[in-house]
Amino acid sequence: MSENKDPQKFVYDFTEGNKDLKDLLGGKGANLAEMTNLGLPVPPGFTITTEACKVYLESGEAPTALRDEVSAHLSALEARMGKQLGQADDPLLVSVRSGAKFSMPGMMDTVLNIGLSDASVVGLATQSGDERFAWDSYRRLIQMFGKTVLGVDGDLFEEALEDAKAAKKVTVDTDLAAADLKKLVKQFKKIVETQAGREFPQNAREQMDLAINAVFDSWNTDRAKLYRRQERIPGDLGTAVNVCSMVFGNLGPDSGTGVAFTRDPASGHQGVYGDYLTNAQGEDVVAGIRNTVPLADLESIDKKSYDQLMQIMETLENHYKDLCDIEFTIERGQLWMLQTRVGKRTAGAAFRIATQLVDQGLIDEAEALQRVNGAQLAQLMFPRFDDEAKTELLGRGIAASPGAAVGKAVFDSYTAIKWSRSGEKVILIRRETNPDDLEGMIAAEGILTSRGGKTSHAAVVARGMGKTCVCGAEDLEVDTKRRRMTVGGKVIEEGDLVSIDGSTGKVYLGEVPVVPSPVVEYFEGRMHAGADDADELVAAVHRIMAYADRVRRLRVRANADNAEDALRARRFGAQGIGLCRTEHMFLGERREMVEKLILADTDDERESALAALLPLQKADFIELFESMDGLPVTVRLLDPPLHEFLPDITELSVRVALAESRKDANENDLRLLQAVHKLHEQNPMLGLRGVRLGLVIPGLFAMQVRAIAEAAAQRKNAKGDPRPEIMIPLVGTVQELEIVREEADRVIAEVQAATGTDLKLTIGTMIELPRAALTAGQIAEAAQFFSFGTNDLTQTVWGFSRDDVEASFFTAYLEKGIFGVSPFETIDKDGVGALVRSAAEAGRATRPDLKLGVCGEHGGDPESVHFFHEVGLDYVSCSPFRIPVARLEAGRAAAQSRGSDSR
Ligand code: PEP
Ligand code: MG
Repeated sequence: MSENKDPQKFVYDFTEGNKDLKDLLGGKGANLAEMTNLGLPVPPGFTITTEACKVYLESGEAPTALRDEVSAHLSALEARMGKQLGQADDPLLVSVRSGAKFSMPGMMDTVLNIGLSDASVVGLATQSGDERFAWDSYRRLIQMFGKTVLGVDGDLFEEALEDAKAAKKVTVDTDLAAADLKKLVKQFKKIVETQAGREFPQNAREQMDLAINAVFDSWNTDRAKLYRRQERIPGDLGTAVNVCSMVFGNLGPDSGTGVAFTRDPASGHQGVYGDYLTNAQGEDVVAGIRNTVPLADLESIDKKSYDQLMQIMETLENHYKDLCDIEFTIERGQLWMLQTRVGKRTAGAAFRIATQLVDQGLIDEAEALQRVNGAQLAQLMFPRFDDEAKTELLGRGIAASPGAAVGKAVFDSYTAIKWSRSGEKVILIRRETNPDDLEGMIAAEGILTSRGGKTSHAAVVARGMGKTCVCGAEDLEVDTKRRRMTVGGKVIEEGDLVSIDGSTGKVYLGEVPVVPSPVVEYFEGRMHAGADDADELVAAVHRIMAYADRVRRLRVRANADNAEDALRARRFGAQGIGLCRTEHMFLGERREMVEKLILADTDDERESALAALLPLQKADFIELFESMDGLPVTVRLLDPPLHEFLPDITELSVRVALAESRKDANENDLRLLQAVHKLHEQNPMLGLRGVRLGLVIPGLFAMQVRAIAEAAAQRKNAKGDPRPEIMIPLVGTVQELEIVREEADRVIAEVQAATGTDLKLTIGTMIELPRAALTAGQIAEAAQFFSFGTNDLTQTVWGFSRDDVEASFFTAYLEKGIFGVSPFETIDKDGVGALVRSAAEAGRATRPDLKLGVCGEHGGDPESVHFFHEVGLDYVSCSPFRIPVARLEAGRAAAQSRGSDSR
């Protein structure tokens, strides 16, 4: 690994690393080192590298050198702190935390207070002068260690804790006294012994080593694997382990712990955002154990620490040039920084923050483009609840992750998954979520919790997934056992419809209607970014889109086959039509005319069927060319198999059979049935479709070409600027294309002569079969442009038909990690992509000015757009609604490749 200067070095002191060493030290370790080097108050410690983890994962054992290196770093830490790990009379305690390059829920939770034992707990009590604190710390260690290192069911500890509180008739853990906690420690140790089959280790170093290995192991928990697949994080990165000397937020009212954001992660506004909890440790804040106070209240609780924290937050934001989130602890009035990272944010905040940082002079436009992405823009284009709708408000929580979600109430993850698999939309309602809820959260439309703040598990994970979430809706009493919630006397049972608004935090009973998002209103031209009442988000999106349009090389076209879609596409920024599927023009009432064509026995019948279709096709094209005046319109000649235009075989058979039994069989139905039988194909995807149809049905393609040419001529004569391009589908060999072209050229010449126009029509082909891609050099002899049909190319390269496989085995393939993502969503770069790349090169070698585009679904997929930029296509074409995303990603791709060129 190039970052690792010394491949034998597995441990780095916090003073040795920096923020750019995330591959080696993980995000947490790299940022702890960065903060240490910035002179911020970070408790001393060290990081074990991801390389050590990789060795462990490969061989099942930690590298031999690791133990000695850890010993050396531990000794240095002990010398610095003036006490030894687990020392009986005055123990050094440490935390052990996982920390991969990317933050990853599902990995091992932190273990705090390592070094406490039956002996050292007494020393800690004496040293701190606080017996209660010492025993509280010890019970927390056994609990966390038991659960995360020894795999004991965490509920057993929770239940024992609840029982202890109930016995004392108190509701919060801070009301338990030293003697209660002592008793609890005894119980916890018993739980460990019976459940884990071993005693809780009394040796401090053993505790630490076991915890380190547990972190390594946690890389491969099911939850972590699921998350990696979801987020497309490679499975072989490994995690680092951070060993950090403990500071204590549970030393009384002058201590506490909190989380903070340098800006509001929901709106992007600068200010004081976060939660603080007095006399608490570690996960208490995010776990929603007790109710936190807003960070601003810290000013009155501990002004000195508050002021220092504000100063540090400013330093961090200027240093990272981004929104940072922070974990801190105050130990008896002394502030300590436990973690910082560039914080997750909502999609809207991402756009606003990017432009705010440009205005503050912290980043430039190219960098601003890297701070947002197409998935976020897509999220902003979701509809939201209609303000005018009559609603029944149930309660209000914290707006944790935006969006408008409607679904049936479910109270556990299992039901969420089960119901969503059967097509139901569900809202997962929990008191609070934990990592075990991950799959349920993925399955749900939205997540609603009654406890926890903006930084609770539910909020953080939902934001990361781009899923609507309202958390901490305290008026709701969630009863998971009875699968219902009550609010103000009203009972909401499992299956009742609820609507949650992740942008306002409001929770409604029933289904609230939705309206388009302001960002869509802006793209539609119904809201102007410069208008006085335009909201901040729209203004930010407008600016970012302008940056993207300025730098992008790829042009963006639309897949559209009627004027309405074409006009919307144009408003959304389309620079032409990349795919007009003419088969869509033959449906509805015209279907019968196509039937006539199919049933034609004689030339006369066929010609009259085609003659009837011609004016209709021509009128379609006139409308389309008018709506895209001045821009290219790629018209694809008829593609799908003919039986798609015929009645269903079973239905028709029944109709004919019934008619025959009544002895009034209809001649036309009989002919239709014969045709249906004749044209029936086992695998129509590979059958008589595309160019093959054009070659076997005389006059079909000629009619379409004539309609295009005559429409263009008419537009020209009306002083329009039509720019049609004729595209032939499913070509596998240049000979097919040559035959179609000869006929097309003849028809065009006739129309030009008859209308006195020079139409400058171009003729090209789709590249959607492996053979076409492999012989692209030859095909380019006859094609003026290529458009990659990555839908069919994916099907034919993989050898599966989308309609069949997605429903049958894709879930299993995704679960097994064979795909990180469906190859129909994101282009399979190594297989399908390799063919696109080589075909593009071969095509251009034959015809340097060959125009190259893509019109499969991948044209609007963010990651695929980057790939198409890289292989040098001229344009991508996608459905109208995805055009803004494609524009943005094309801009991001260009800015990225410029950045790497200049490096
Ligand atoms: C394709 O195959 O990628 C394509 C655009 O054509 P269709 O989806 O219409 O088969
Ligand atoms: Mg196709």
